Amino acid sequence: MLDVRKIRLILELRESGISNSNVLSALELIPREKFIPENYRNQAYENIALPIGENQTISQPYVVAKMTELLEVENNHKVLEIGTGSGYQCAVLSKLARRIYTIERIKNLHDKSCKIFEQLNLTNIVSKYEDGNNGWVEQIPFDRIIFTAATENITEKIFSHIKENGIIVCPIIRDNRQVIIKYKRKNNKLISQEFDDVLFVPNLKGIN
Ligand code: SAH
Repeated sequence: MLDVRKIRLILELRESGISNSNVLSALELIPREKFIPENYRNQAYENIALPIGENQTISQPYVVAKMTELLEVENNHKVLEIGTGSGYQCAVLSKLARRIYTIERIKNLHDKSCKIFEQLNLTNIVSKYEDGNNGWVEQIPFDRIIFTAATENITEKIFSHIKENGIIVCPIIRDNRQVIIKYKRKNNKLISQEFDDVLFVPNLKGIN
């Protein structure tokens, strides 16, 4: 039953403009239901965000697919994710990159996601319970960085984590909106490009 719904979802994503077949395959490989509380599991393959507890949500599959596509991940890449949440986005990235470093500021979500990564044998994910705005200094530089909580801007701290020609994808808060921005580091500057309007939970300081 889930399989039929999954195939339908993948087709829907393709129709919505996701054309990178590696990205679509990664979404097909990861069982989204594992990242969702039991009472919502029957909706795992609907194209909607769902609650994961702690007032947080697992992102809509279209948004995961879109941000993953914009990140242009290659199989030798080292990726940083700020905002592990359920771990779903991270799991999708783990099928495309060499290694993912992911940071979550809510202990309960960090612990839950670590267990699922272990169950699914996703051994190229390294998780940390911390404020992601502090980055992961020991692992600099990164080929790619993804934010999965809405933030005001890219700080100097995070900028120092990305390689020349590296890409950062982030929901940025603009007045009353949030927009997905893709940044490319070129000659020590970030060149930005705007994409879809989205609705993410905010990036918050400190740990919880
Ligand atoms: N990528 C997630 C969805 C994001 S929910 C998924 O696929 O399910 C956003 C997550 O970012 C939340 O769990 C929230 O606690 C976390 N977050 C917000 N601010 C953060 C910060 N400064 N550092 C680390 N995690 C943060």
